[in-house]
Amino acid sequence: MDAARPLTPSGLESGPSPADGAPRATPVMEQYIEIKAANPDCLLFYRMGDFYELFFEDAEIAARALGIVLTKRGKHLGRDIPMCGVPVHRSDEYLHRLIAMGHRVAVCEQLEDPAEARKRGGKSVVRRDVIRLVTPGTLTEDTLLDARRNNYLLAIARARASAGEESRFAIAWIDISTGEFRIAECDRTAVAADIARLEPGEIIVSDALYGDPEFAPYLRSLPVVTPLTRDVFDGASAERRLAGYFGLSTTEGFGALSRLELTAAAACITYVERTQLGQRPPLSPPVREPQGATLLIDQATRSNLELVRTLSGERRGSLLAAIDRSVTAAGSRLLAQRLAAPLTDAGAIGRRHDAVAFFVTSAGARAEIRERLKAAPDLARSLARLVVGRGGPRDLAAMRDGVTAAADLAAELEKFPELAAELAQAMQSLRRPDPAIAAELAAALADELPHLKRDGGFVRAGYDAALDEARALRDESRRVIAALQGRYADTTAVRALKIRHNNVLGYFVEVTAQHGDKLMAPPLNATFIHRQTLAGQVRFTTTELGALEAKIANAADRALGIELESFDKLAAIVTAASAAIKDAAGALAILDVATALAQLAVERHYVRPEIDGSLDFIVKGGRHPVVEQVLAGDGGPFVANDCDLSPPPQAPHGRIYLLTGPNMAGKSTYLRQNALIAILAQMGSFVPARHAKIGAVDRLFSRVGAADDIARGRSTFMVEMVETAAILNQAGERALVILDEIGRGTATFDGLSIAWATIEHLHETNRCRALFATHFHELTALAAKLPRLFNATVRVKEWQGEVVFLHEVVPGAADRSYGIQVAKLAGLPATVIERAKVVLAKLEAEDRASPRGFDDLPLFAAAPRPSSPATHDSAVDSVVAALAALHPDEMSPRDALEALYALKTKAAVQGR
Ligand code: ADP
Ligand code: MG
Repeated sequence: MDAARPLTPSGLESGPSPADGAPRATPVMEQYIEIKAANPDCLLFYRMGDFYELFFEDAEIAARALGIVLTKRGKHLGRDIPMCGVPVHRSDEYLHRLIAMGHRVAVCEQLEDPAEARKRGGKSVVRRDVIRLVTPGTLTEDTLLDARRNNYLLAIARARASAGEESRFAIAWIDISTGEFRIAECDRTAVAADIARLEPGEIIVSDALYGDPEFAPYLRSLPVVTPLTRDVFDGASAERRLAGYFGLSTTEGFGALSRLELTAAAACITYVERTQLGQRPPLSPPVREPQGATLLIDQATRSNLELVRTLSGERRGSLLAAIDRSVTAAGSRLLAQRLAAPLTDAGAIGRRHDAVAFFVTSAGARAEIRERLKAAPDLARSLARLVVGRGGPRDLAAMRDGVTAAADLAAELEKFPELAAELAQAMQSLRRPDPAIAAELAAALADELPHLKRDGGFVRAGYDAALDEARALRDESRRVIAALQGRYADTTAVRALKIRHNNVLGYFVEVTAQHGDKLMAPPLNATFIHRQTLAGQVRFTTTELGALEAKIANAADRALGIELESFDKLAAIVTAASAAIKDAAGALAILDVATALAQLAVERHYVRPEIDGSLDFIVKGGRHPVVEQVLAGDGGPFVANDCDLSPPPQAPHGRIYLLTGPNMAGKSTYLRQNALIAILAQMGSFVPARHAKIGAVDRLFSRVGAADDIARGRSTFMVEMVETAAILNQAGERALVILDEIGRGTATFDGLSIAWATIEHLHETNRCRALFATHFHELTALAAKLPRLFNATVRVKEWQGEVVFLHEVVPGAADRSYGIQVAKLAGLPATVIERAKVVLAKLEAEDRASPRGFDDLPLFAAAPRPSSPATHDSAVDSVVAALAALHPDEMSPRDALEALYALKTKAAVQGR
């Protein structure tokens, strides 16, 4: 965070004053200092000609962050001023990198032509001001955004707890690039779960919350948190600010919002206005997300299940990548959103399934619509740019194509009398934009469009008579110049004479050095006025050329002026229709998601799951959506498996599966696949199974024993326990809990005891549906005492001394762990494998002689077994004894080598 809040440039405010004898700041520096002082927590991009320059500490930060050269520019108060710069035409790229690192940037532009400033007198400084603050959560440019992800700005407001109560929170989040705006009131854990789900680009909080000792550690662990002054989070003015943004006198139309919710929403609004310097991106009215409407999934579970990215941080290999068949960026964003926030209401989920089902059956419509969608541009983001004045000609083209595509798709849907409700609603939205908008844009825009409006040339010939005239004049003059070049070449007899143009000289006559003298001598010097001599060329102007140039410039200026006027007019038409266009954009995304999920279902043989309010969890022939696709690539079949966590007859609560089986059998895969099936089902997708019926899950937890978390600097076992604690404290009867090898990160007895107690707690207190994979066979004894605990195992068979994994989950407990066979498969040296078999046989014999009593608690009253059983093996003992008798310091190298051979022989003989 420190990086995001550079200090005021050193010496600017607290340094010695000029009275100390140091020279005064130059006028430019004075202007810089004033603007910088108004934006102390941003890096200031200060426009000077073709560069944005950074000074003082900003320059040092940026040079380090961007790996660009740090130079000096003059002195301030007797000291060198550090400086670095980025060229304007590549500034997006540098901005992107700074923003990604969590910096905020104030972009300060020249507001007048330097020539105008000179007119005011030699010492006058070009007028400059900040036109925009670029912060991670308030971006609109395609170059700064990921097309397939939302970029949220999220505000957290807190109502302090009165004595004995918990603090209450409200969060509001906005994606200004798409206009989405939501609010939710929640408790402390839900704040964290929502932030994990939304992954905001930037979070804003009040100074007070930022400094709160209880909350601060959490906030510091998040990527970009911007603390703001109290007025932004002022509850008293919140409603007025929120209503004002939408041009309303009250927020009543948004539904009943609590004061806390209003505060969070208004904080977002105020921050958007500040960073956009008063521009108002086209936001949808805020929608309140009722608590409990979405399946709560905490951060650990999300990363563990690799929902939107893998543990190593890539999209590839994640569930999202495996199921994403969308054809538009907006569809991809909506799919990611739905995956991150599955629903809990069976009715709402069913409506999404209806839409998918429609396109599963209507293959023709699916193909047709997907084909048309491919042509649909990213309407929402182009619209946002146009409304805030950052749009270009291609954004107008996006409006033209998007509005047309929307109308076409509406017509396509209309062919079906019995549309699913979600699709019928989408059809209404697709019809909303006035077709006249697309017609006007189609008439106005040229076929080839420049990226920037100031490049001109985007208005179609014939659209505007005045423009056509100015262009004709400009082009005519250009022809005159070409003719002039021919004439000059004749009169001077210099065939290689050229008329060229650059930004410094404007139009000029250029000849090679050898002909220069000729043009500078009489009689030609009467016509040709020398301007510049370069190494190889000499440049001239003529009165005639000067006059022509003025004419061309005038005509070109006039043409561009007219084009820019047209642009503004068209942008205004679009802005006026922004609500309808945004609605249509949303409908396009909905259509894309519904058809994409149908495509997936058909491609990969998914079925429609049945969702209700029960506690059932029946999956028949379930598969892992990601592993299945990976295996399909390798040619191996994925073995489908059933799972039934429904309450047993007469029992009020769901079951716990205790899954045992050797390493590599497929336990982890099975656990995850059932969690992923629940997520897919509740997000509105079909699922990879033959049949599925799921009583909606309200919270999902997934933990893996001893997961590596070195990055966060905690011991892996500590992490495992912290996460297990969270589950045992939070899971209710509608939760689904996945525990994979809990207790593995510590010594055997500790681990076994913890796993044992955890299962009992899940069964007796949480009473949730759960899947528990373990390598502790001892735990299977618990099934005899806990009526809703079921033992299951993954089948393997031994064949010619090798273990064969069948990946088939069946009732019962694993007979043994096959660790040695797996080790053999892994390529451990044969001697080690053989040795391990001997040790194992011995241990098992000992165990049979004095069986461990796990049938009854207390369990571990019996004398603990030695922690390192191998030391009790006589073979090892004798080797160890021989080793102990050696005195390396007193041995010659030859003795040592012989001793080593002796030891080796001993080990070989005794180990057999
Ligand atoms: P465990 O957790 O029991 O050690 P994993 O779940 O990690 O085993 O599975 C090991 C490997 O076995 C996986 O990488 C996968 O390739 C394969 N596998 C797992 N389940 C199946 C299955 N149902 N069908 C086919 N291959 C499977
Ligand atoms: Mg495993």
